[in-house]
Amino acid sequence: MNKRKIAILGSTGSIGRQALQVIAEHRDLFEVELLTANTSADLLVEQALQFDVNQVVLHDEAAYRRAKDLLAGSPVKVYAGKESVVGLMETMDVDVVLSAQVGFSGLEPTLAALRNGRPVALSNKESLVAAGSLVMRLAQEKGTPLLPVDSEHSAIFQCLQGQRGCIEKLLLTASGGPFLHHTPEQMASITRAEALRHPRWNMGAKITIDCATMMNKGLEMIEAHWLFNVAPKDIQIVVHPQSIIHSMVQFTDGTVLGQMSNPDMRIPIQFALAYPERPALPIPRLDFAQLGQFTFLAPDLERFPCIRLAYEAIAQGGNLPCAMNAANEEAVHAFLREEIPFTTIVKAVEATMAVTPIVEVPTLEDIIVTDREARIRVQEFLKR
Ligand code: MG
Repeated sequence: MNKRKIAILGSTGSIGRQALQVIAEHRDLFEVELLTANTSADLLVEQALQFDVNQVVLHDEAAYRRAKDLLAGSPVKVYAGKESVVGLMETMDVDVVLSAQVGFSGLEPTLAALRNGRPVALSNKESLVAAGSLVMRLAQEKGTPLLPVDSEHSAIFQCLQGQRGCIEKLLLTASGGPFLHHTPEQMASITRAEALRHPRWNMGAKITIDCATMMNKGLEMIEAHWLFNVAPKDIQIVVHPQSIIHSMVQFTDGTVLGQMSNPDMRIPIQFALAYPERPALPIPRLDFAQLGQFTFLAPDLERFPCIRLAYEAIAQGGNLPCAMNAANEEAVHAFLREEIPFTTIVKAVEATMAVTPIVEVPTLEDIIVTDREARIRVQEFLKR
């Protein structure tokens, strides 16, 4: 494959750092053109120098000034603000944009990259949850590839390579998170530290809490619906605590294909960046004799009502998944600040969804307004 120029939006987060590990493995295949971060100026500068990056953006003004100082005298161009990211995405000539910011703020840069015809490796699931119809329509209009980075969606995408058969259903696997066997009483007293201790994956704080509530699986169901054009009723969540099968596709002839590996995000990241090539990766291999057994169970919707809320949100459609996502982001951050109990997260999301005025075919402006108002509504609920 020809050397690919990569832009990484959110390079100091968990996915961004692991993407740079993949690129460090294959300096002959990839070069990094742009890195962006929110506030982590020191790490961003270190990454920029290590990978000979031409341009960096810091969202935060103080972090921008710090990076500017640290890079004084170097050829690296430094920009400030989220608008700079969107501006660069609209004009930049790169082969792949890795969209790895956390949350709704990933939406506008993702749309700008697609508008500019740049293939997007999408890790930012919130942009598809909030605005799936807008994102998919733009990708289709422009003929721009949207490559999944989320491990489940990469697994499904890998299972679909070379297939001509029709999809009957998607089997979205879930580890079940740290509280799979908790009783409802135990759920009520979960601490921040407990919720941040995920049994299988090492990830950023927001997604780790989403895994603990299983909202992550709800968001991923909506993400899968948009990426693969499969009806939500044909997407089944299966708890698989070993996290070896990363998801499966059932075809109309009864065949089920799944993708397996040790849980390591570098595999799906590399698959998206190098697609359709599959370069080598030196990570631990599976040892089936040692694994012994795989287990599977249905998710418990009583203990994990976020899954039910996600199915309800996508069934209603329009701007409701956007409101659900915004309420969830705010409630998760309130939990991370130790302002609310764990079980209040889902209550806040449900209450916000219940008072969201529905817009059936939202424009981008409607989505932005829905996101903003849902955040205000959830804060009002949390103050009560
Ligand atoms: Mg995932």
